[in-house]
Amino acid sequence: MTHRLSPFAQDYSLIIDLRRSLLFWYERQGRDLPWRNQTDAYTIWVSEIMLQQTQVKTVIPYYQRWLVQFPTIKDLAIAPLQTVLKAWEGLGYYARARNLHASAQIIVRDYNSLFPENLEEVLKLPGIGRTTAGGILSAAFNQPVSILDGNVKRVLSRLIALPVPPEKALPQLWTFSDELIDPQYPKDFNQALMDLGATICTRSHPSCLLCPWMQYCQAYNKGMQSELPMRESSPPLPHKK
Ligand code: SF4
Repeated sequence: MTHRLSPFAQDYSLIIDLRRSLLFWYERQGRDLPWRNQTDAYTIWVSEIMLQQTQVKTVIPYYQRWLVQFPTIKDLAIAPLQTVLKAWEGLGYYARARNLHASAQIIVRDYNSLFPENLEEVLKLPGIGRTTAGGILSAAFNQPVSILDGNVKRVLSRLIALPVPPEKALPQLWTFSDELIDPQYPKDFNQALMDLGATICTRSHPSCLLCPWMQYCQAYNKGMQSELPMRESSPPLPHKK
């Protein structure tokens, strides 16, 4: 069963415009982050896990130190858990470090120390959900696997003026993210979407006038960008023209 709610779903030329405008913006305005030009799945995986509950500026020094201490999956797998937890100290949510360590051991044992390239196999690794898997597979192998983290949920909810809280429309938002991802440039597209959410379509006071999707955005066109995405406690949306 497909879950469609996007008004863009039937309009392929509009989807193409959305992809092009976002990629054009990303080429000029994308963030320069240390894991951006990496193609090594291990380093991308580490960055994705660190970024799960921690801000970019906090992650960067940890990420750099981590790769000096554990330069390969094998180095991480053979390190004592206490050493791994010590390296994580200060980042919080220690389950992430335990899962990285456990997954590294699985990858060494079952995948000859190479990060798996198959989505189903990646999803079986501890601590890797669908959006993290999409982030890794698109960034490391340029696979067209979509993402739906908190930033992306917010951007897509605004783009289509989603009339319910995102948590109530997850299958539809995943379908929309699948439809949008650029099959030719999936890596750049996902990175661009994350950057748009982090720098332009921010939680409060989104910079719509700088947004490459302004003309397509239903929230902006209805003047509702500050009211969306809806929260569980939000009042019903007014009907604005
Ligand atoms: S126009 Fe504004 S609300 Fe819409 S996607 Fe862009 S920044 Fe977000």
